[in-house]
Amino acid sequence: MTTMPSNAELHAQRLAAVPRGLASATALVAGHARNAEVWDVEGRRYIDFASGIAVLNVGHCHPRVLEAVRAQMERFTHTAFQVTAYEPYIRLAARLNALAPFSGPAKTILLNTGAEAVENAVKIARRATGRSAVIAFSGAFHGRTMMTMALTGKTVPYKAGFGTLSPGVFHLPFPTDGGSAVRETLRALDRLFACDVEPAHVAAIIVEPVQGEGGFHVAPFELLRELRAICDRHRILLIADEVQTGFARTGAMFAIGHSGVEPDLITVAKGLGGGFPLGGVIGRGDVMDAVDPGGLGTTFGGSPIACAAALAVLDIIAEENLCARACAIGERLTARITAVATSNARVGISPPRGLGAMIAFDVLTDPGRAPDGARAKRVVARAAERGLLVLTCGAEGQAIRILAPLTIGDALLDEGLGLLKDALEAAE
Ligand code: PMP
Repeated sequence: MTTMPSNAELHAQRLAAVPRGLASATALVAGHARNAEVWDVEGRRYIDFASGIAVLNVGHCHPRVLEAVRAQMERFTHTAFQVTAYEPYIRLAARLNALAPFSGPAKTILLNTGAEAVENAVKIARRATGRSAVIAFSGAFHGRTMMTMALTGKTVPYKAGFGTLSPGVFHLPFPTDGGSAVRETLRALDRLFACDVEPAHVAAIIVEPVQGEGGFHVAPFELLRELRAICDRHRILLIADEVQTGFARTGAMFAIGHSGVEPDLITVAKGLGGGFPLGGVIGRGDVMDAVDPGGLGTTFGGSPIACAAALAVLDIIAEENLCARACAIGERLTARITAVATSNARVGISPPRGLGAMIAFDVLTDPGRAPDGARAKRVVARAAERGLLVLTCGAEGQAIRILAPLTIGDALLDEGLGLLKDALEAAE
């Protein structure tokens, strides 16, 4: 009988074989996983509050996803859509078009990743407008490829040292505290138009309806409405980056749906594929059709297997009422975290924030109550020791973000929150 190598052995091999630029939040190595639980190679069990970074909204290995994938694998695994179209892609595109908040006809291109979705959204916006500049926000995360790296609003570790950034990218301050901050952002946009780039050169404004890596800050609806009006005035396209917020995570299929604002393009990935690599751009039909044949595409984009998985994900979201479940999870998390924030001075955390089941709180210095990234990192390590997978986010890595599968039961959610509280107390 062969024995599986230990976490420590595999971790040592990983350090030797994989570059350190690809950092892992924990030193454990996954053995198998089901729904909201992961077991490491030594058989130790962890509650999963990370969901592979907002990917497993329907949990690990949902039986319906596995069944759909197995059935597709028996038929064929790849043709390249550019060579031969196939039904799962066409059906998925049509379903996404129907689900997305566009009042007119929509079209979808399927890709592989979130960054690729953003890259393509920018290309489409440039071709549709004949302009090249793009406006993004401080604290935003849009990816690590050359264009998305420029759009991402954080230098270390994402941009520093990687050379000249793509030109024509501008950043506005993201309003993190309500009304007056929205006005400040709009004044900054006026200044940008006056000093740096005229509106007639701007192809798109890209915004996350809830900043993900930036710290789970919800874009005020007033900001989204103002951006829509400004885009309309200057014929700029509005891109909603829903890579982290999409597919029921915030209590709606797309987070921008909460605001009633209609974007021109939506980028998706993560939760769509239920664990299989899949990204896409959903957009207004006329905008999506601006690119001539051959201008878009990638060999693996919208793989038949990932499309089959995604069709199952959309069924599960509808049939298991996961939008409503996300709201219920969010309320439970908010109540429990608020109780910890107000009851126990030893723990030192901010009140929770976020939307639906996308909830975070800041770990604070004690005393001083300033954001404490080093302590948040210790919380993640203490949590893993106790059997909980959880991630940080935020400008200083100070926020603990909770992204549990939406299929998690209340008992496991509460057990995970108990472990998180223990980890906070242990991370002095
Ligand atoms: N946009 C957003 C909002 C994201 O959160 C991410 C990933 N964290 C990306 C884009 C990039 O996605 P990927 O890692 O799949 O390239």
